[in-house]
Amino acid sequence: MQSTNLEPFNVRQRIQDLRFRTALFINGEFVEALSEKTFNSINPSNGEVLAQISAADEVDVDRAVISARQAFESGHWRTQSPQNRKSVLMSLALLIETHSEELALLESLEVGKPLRDALNIDLPATVNTFRWYAEALDKLYGEVASTPYNSLAYITREPIGVVGVVVPWNFPLYMASWKLAPALALGNSVILKPSERSSLSALRLAELAIEAGLPPGVLNVVPGYGNVAGQALGRHSDVDAIAFTGSTETGKRFLIYSGESNMKSVSLETGGKTPHIVYADTPDLKRVAVAAAWGIFFNQGEVCNAGSRLLVQRDIKDKFLEHLTEVTEKIRLGDPISWDTQMGAIVDARQLERIKSAVTNGLEEGASLLMGGQQVLQDSGGYFFEPTIFTDANNSMSIARKEIFGPVLTVIAFDTLKEAIDIANDSIYGLAAAIWTSDLSNALTSARDLRAGQVWVNNFDGSDITVPWGGYKQSGIGRDKSLHAFNKYSELKATWIEIN
Ligand code: NAD
Repeated sequence: MQSTNLEPFNVRQRIQDLRFRTALFINGEFVEALSEKTFNSINPSNGEVLAQISAADEVDVDRAVISARQAFESGHWRTQSPQNRKSVLMSLALLIETHSEELALLESLEVGKPLRDALNIDLPATVNTFRWYAEALDKLYGEVASTPYNSLAYITREPIGVVGVVVPWNFPLYMASWKLAPALALGNSVILKPSERSSLSALRLAELAIEAGLPPGVLNVVPGYGNVAGQALGRHSDVDAIAFTGSTETGKRFLIYSGESNMKSVSLETGGKTPHIVYADTPDLKRVAVAAAWGIFFNQGEVCNAGSRLLVQRDIKDKFLEHLTEVTEKIRLGDPISWDTQMGAIVDARQLERIKSAVTNGLEEGASLLMGGQQVLQDSGGYFFEPTIFTDANNSMSIARKEIFGPVLTVIAFDTLKEAIDIANDSIYGLAAAIWTSDLSNALTSARDLRAGQVWVNNFDGSDITVPWGGYKQSGIGRDKSLHAFNKYSELKATWIEIN
């Protein structure tokens, strides 16, 4: 994925003008954590402290839940007419759009993603998500069932209540919007727990929501550590639903939290190890090489559906890798806030270490490095890692099995389509899969047999808010995006009436 339509602004000046919101946002106002504890937000491009953020603990999460519950019970939001709720969410979308430069800058500074991507991809997609669910909410209808003549049974959708939204740092606002927009559209109250690596844009969003007219308490934001604030939300007995995006490991914890507390509903968008299959009959290999390179190196490889396993038919492997290397060598790695940068910094030192150790493991297991493999730009004080391609790999190596969540591609050769599909499906994950081929039967067979929530044929990363998103197997439970997402934030009520 490459950025377009860049509208440059004076970045240095904007950074000086930035004001960071660093407190918790509960019941419509910023408040400090009762413990007064904070944690550092680090700029991954230079390793410096950007801000000190209030760290919510169990007590603070409880305050947020009380506020959300009161807002829900008061009906100030959920009983407003759909047209009113739509109008507030439309205003919020407009405010996000108006503040796109500020929000994009906050995200680029905090997570190291290229500013041009934050501005041209993340922010427009976030605005579109809020608009789409705002537009959808007054077009929802109930059902009347085919019951006997002397009865009427109708089915209505009701907001589920208090929703905990727990999200990662790789697309901070965009991932949050997939959950906030449908949850709020239906009239729920929400507590958002952003990643401890990306709190700033979430806190600014909460403020904008009040400006848009959302009643206090309907959207609360509790930054803090996962094992403290995230766990407190997951275990809280007055939270009705958790909508989570993050690692598979953490997702499993939320299932335990639910089972050990109030059996709240849990939906999960978790990890992936996307197989990207290139069949020899594909006509334009240069074009496919661009898709394969950006399929893994976009956003520094910190993408749930990154095409991290490249399965190439043996006959074309050498030719294809030549094209792939050519594209990858041209990727401009550098300071995330520089307009030229296409690949920025890894989110933090811990993630960088995880990537380095994955590369070491790949070499120890016998894979060969075609390019990359090193930390770079150390003088910056930041965490940069070059685009890395492993060849001579097989699907039993850890670099083919574990989600690395960094710019590391594992290339595996195959001979037949059946072999490619078997390799692709031999994974605990099933988020996405892609195949390039000019043969209709190959395309349709793959689309049917690949076990993944989305299959891309002759494209990579096709995406639209109208299309559901989610994973098979350990890539998740439930779907974000599209009208299907409403299921996660509503209860279906059946009302029976006897007619005498
Ligand atoms: P993570 O699981 O470490 O953290 C995600 C969220 O959970 C954060 O807010 C974190 O604070 C919280 N958390 C962490 N430990 C917790 C605990 N013990 N209890 C409760 N909450 C806890 O994931 P991450 O590193 O922030 O994000 C990367 C992961 O997210 C990758 O696995 C990626 O594939 C996944 N992801 C999936 C999708 C998708 O749509 N399927 C999208 C984006 C990212």
